[in-house]
Amino acid sequence: MTILFISDLHLTKKKPQLTCLFKKFLSEQAIHAESLYILGDFFDAWIGDDDDCEYYLSIIDALKQLSDTGVPIYFMDGNRDFLVGKRFCKMSGCQLLKDPVVIDLYGIKTLLKHGDDLCLDDKSYLLYRKIVRNLWVKMFYLALPLKRRRNIAAKIRNKSQQKEHQTVQQILDIPEEAVTKVMATYGVNQFIHGHTHRPSIHYFQWTAHPKVHIVLSDWGESGNVLVCEPGGQFRLDYFKA
Ligand code: MN
Repeated sequence: MTILFISDLHLTKKKPQLTCLFKKFLSEQAIHAESLYILGDFFDAWIGDDDDCEYYLSIIDALKQLSDTGVPIYFMDGNRDFLVGKRFCKMSGCQLLKDPVVIDLYGIKTLLKHGDDLCLDDKSYLLYRKIVRNLWVKMFYLALPLKRRRNIAAKIRNKSQQKEHQTVQQILDIPEEAVTKVMATYGVNQFIHGHTHRPSIHYFQWTAHPKVHIVLSDWGESGNVLVCEPGGQFRLDYFKA
């Protein structure tokens, strides 16, 4: 048995092949796992659990099928899908995780995050994050009709795409000091996150204990999963349809 971690699939009905790849991953690999962790930006956008779009219902159904077979699914939201809530979790059988969370991974304390709040050099994003995650702003947005919410989400997405083109790559990465600081704060030797789309398994040391910092990959032409073996070994697996 293994424990699996995925993130940054950015599932959208505009990418049917990606959706097929994910469903195949669930039915062929995740079904044999001890548990599955989803660490944010699972959906390209999420405007509220009441979105009755057929596409989303099919994803929820696929997740439910897996959780019904007894594989626990832990769901942490990301900057694209932070409006995922209790209703989604109930329908899909997922258990919602708060960012950050420390889990026991085969006996080793491991910190899990999405990672967007560690991009400390991106000041304008951090301010935006603070505003949209404000409880009142969320409540106000969720009270709008679905159509309005869809329009607003599309506008924000366009803006963020323009910004990605303009911003220097380096700014979007997580500074090394932020990684060591957050690991020290939570007293962990293992840290797993997504968001930056720069997959790596990086071993290092600053105290007597070896440490590992793992960045998950986004999904595109191929899918990607971090596999953790019961002995604690990690590997990043890529697969195609
Ligand atoms: Mn992200």
